[in-house]
Parts: sequence; structure tokens; C-alpha cells
Amino acid sequence: MLQLMAELGISDRLQWKQHTLIFNQPEKPGVLSRFDVPDIPAPFNVIVSILRNNDMLTWQQKIRFAIGLLPAVVRGQRYVESTDRYTLSEWLRLQGIDEGVNTDIFIAASKALTFINPDEVSAMITLTALNRFLQERYGSKIAFLDGAPPQRLCQPIVDHFVQRGGSVETGVSLRRIELNADGTVKHFVVGKKGEPDRVLEADAYVSAMSVDILKLLLPDRWRELEFFQKLEGLEGVPVINIQIWFDRKLTNVDQLLFSRSPLLSVYADMSVTCKEYADPDKSMLELVVAPAQEWIGRSDSDIFAATMAELARLFPDQIPEPARVRKYHVVKTPRSVYKAVPGTQSHRPPQATPISNFFLSGSYTLQPYLGSMEGAVLSGKLTAAAIERAFLSHSPQDLGQATAPQA
Ligand SMILES: Cc1cc2nc3c(=O)[nH]c(=O)nc-3n(C[C@H](O)[C@H](O)[C@H](O)COP(=O)(O)OP(=O)(O)OC[C@H]3O[C@@H](n4cnc5c(N)ncnc54)[C@H](O)[C@@H]3O)c2cc1C
Repeated sequence: MLQLMAELGISDRLQWKQHTLIFNQPEKPGVLSRFDVPDIPAPFNVIVSILRNNDMLTWQQKIRFAIGLLPAVVRGQRYVESTDRYTLSEWLRLQGIDEGVNTDIFIAASKALTFINPDEVSAMITLTALNRFLQERYGSKIAFLDGAPPQRLCQPIVDHFVQRGGSVETGVSLRRIELNADGTVKHFVVGKKGEPDRVLEADAYVSAMSVDILKLLLPDRWRELEFFQKLEGLEGVPVINIQIWFDRKLTNVDQLLFSRSPLLSVYADMSVTCKEYADPDKSMLELVVAPAQEWIGRSDSDIFAATMAELARLFPDQIPEPARVRKYHVVKTPRSVYKAVPGTQSHRPPQATPISNFFLSGSYTLQPYLGSMEGAVLSGKLTAAAIERAFLSHSPQDLGQATAPQA
């Protein structure tokens, strides 16, 4: 993600925050607990931040936690991947890490990373993130984009592409994949609302759709292949985002916060954290509702009411009185990132498929950054490399003659 933004010349659009993780304390409404990460090499920076925090973990818990994490730190990613057999709760129990650490730290981490709770999420996911935090000096540092992603991030990508002769169309859906006799892609049939469908022909075809949509659109002949059958083990998880505009300032904390409430996951006051919404007098909270399984089918007003009830515990001096809501907006994503339950890692496909002119991209495909923006961006680079290998992988003479595939 950082590399992409540097290539586009838009790194200055990232608003870096102080290196700290901040948690609400449900038992002490309105009081925050901080893990301030000092600017010293990893893993000492994270270790010092844990040792210095005395609100959430007792010394006994810290020691048990450190011992429990040792195999992941010492044996590395191979060990971490072997934990995909367990849910995070099961793994914590096996390591003798007590329930208190789970409620204090891991419920918040699990909801923030995957939108599900530790009794559902694969231990591998949390351990992968923790290992990265322990290995990279700035691995847990948070930045906000300075405005809405379509304008501030996606448009520069489109401009970059168009300036180099590419073209981008939005609002066009893939309707069908039609095949040649040998099972390769003959063409895509695409369509736009209110317009007749049309055929799209290319040398290489890439699906960057979410795995749920791809599964619906797979041609029948491909469904017999083990490669595509494995996709049945992947499914998007529901999540809800809610934005609430208030008539006054609720907080001046310039950071993402872990709510540690049953309904909510992370949240931020965008009037403080993000230039586009900057307002010295009025807050705009943006919150993630997770796990959202139970809420995704409910009305916006139900979701808003439940959110306000939990916000009353986070801001007891201002909610429900005297702060007033000016407006709110609920965004439901019934199928977002793949649901990272135990065993899903082996279902994630590589970017090259058994079909010679068909490739996959998306954060659900195999890459080390899990279901995230980083994962989506890196998968795109891996797809480009796979296409290059498939089309330009011959001798230097061939390379000279080869034309770049159109995709
Ligand atoms: C509320 C929320 C908060 C998040 N916060 C973070 C965060 O802070 N950091 C982070 O790294 N990640 C975050 N994520 C996760 C991140 O958004 C995803 O990992 C990322 O968007 C995945 O990218 P993708 O390209 O794989 O899939 P998507 O972004 O889902 O893209 C799939 C695309 O396929 C398109 N599509 C669907 N059907 C068709 C069709 N028939 N034809 C053509 N196109 C189609 C869709 O319109 C969509 O644009 C968050 C996600 C949510 C929902």
C-alpha cells in the first residue's frame, strides 16, 4: 500500500498518527488505556509498550502472554500457519493464556482484523498480525487517508492508468464467462444497467471480484476442477460501517480507538483524524459494527439505536445528553473480506489458475497480508507477475517480439 502510494506520488495524503494503540475500558466508562510504542527497534518497542501498560494486564498475565507467544516468535511463520487448525480461543487455552487477556486484548484485535470474535477466527490470523508487529518497527503504526478513498486514492490510480494508454469503466458488471472448446476463456459478457450486454475480448482475463461473486459466475465446466471447488471453503463475512454527525465535539483523540464493546469494533472521530472532515466544533464518528451477522438484516434505525446505546458507555458525559445527532448513515456490506475461520488458509487460491488465460486477484487470494487493502494491492502485483510469466516467460528473443497482453 505504501509502495503503491509512493509510485503514485500521493504519500503525503497519509495522515500518520502517533505510534500507539488505544483501548476503551468498559469497566471504567470514558477512560482510555494506551499502549504507547516507543521509537526503538522491534520487538523491543512492542514489548516496552506492553510492559508499561498497567490498566489492562496484570504482571502475571503479561508473563503468561509472553510465554504463550514464544513459539510464534521463535518458530516464525511456519508455526503461525500450523495454528490455522485452531480458533484463537482454542489456541489461547492451549497456551495457558487466561480468559482475561482474551477479553482485554484479543476480542478487540480479532474484531478489528477480521470482523469476527476469537471463538470463530483462526488463530493464524491474529498471530500473523502480532508477529508482524513484533518484527517491523512501524508494523502497528496507523495512518488515515486524508479524505474519501474514491477521490483521494482510486482516482490517482485511474489517472496513472489512463495516462499510459489504459482505460477504466465503472458500473460495468461481468454477466458471464464464455469458453472456447478447450475450456479457456473465449470472452467476457459484460453489461451496464439500462444498456445491452456486450462482449469483451482480451489476451488475458482477470477476476478481481470478491470470491462470493466469482463463485456465482464460474462456468459449469470449471466447477469440476479441484482448483475452483476449493473456493467453496471461502465466504465473505458481513460487516457494517456507521457514520454519525454530532452537534458538538465528543473527543479530541487523534487516533483509531478499539471500543471493546460487544457490538462495536474500532472507531474514530473523523473530524479530528481526517482532513476532509476536519471540524473544530462538531464530531463525526465513524464506527465499525462487528460481528455483524445478527445485525446485517436489521433496519438502519435499529442499528443506529444499538450503536447509540453503546456510545453512551464510551461517552457517558455527552450521550444521550447533551450531544445531539445531526444525521447518520449506515453502510452494510453483507459479504466483505473472506471469513477467516480455521482451515480457510488451504482454500485460498494462487493468482494463476489452471485456465491459461484466466487469473485471479483480490485479498482472498494467496498472499501474506490476509484480507486487507495491503492484501488486495499485493495480490494485484502477484497477478501481474503471473500474467508476465505466462505470456512473456520465454527466451530473450521471444521477449523482444512479445506484445503485452491486453487485460
Ligand atoms: C467496513 C470495512 C472496513 C475496513 N477497514 C480496513 C482497514 O482499515 N484496512 C484494511 O487494510 N482493510 C480494511 N477493510 C478490508 C478491505 O476493504 C478489503 O480487504 C479490500 O477492499 C479487498 O479488496 P478486493 O479488491 O479483494 O475486493 P473488493 O474491494 O471487495 O473489490 C471487489 C470488487 O468487485 C466488484 N464486483 C462485484 N461484482 C462484480 C461483477 N459482476 N462484475 C464486475 N465487478 C464486480 C465490486 O463492485 C468491488 O469493487 C475494510 C473493509 C470493510 C468492509
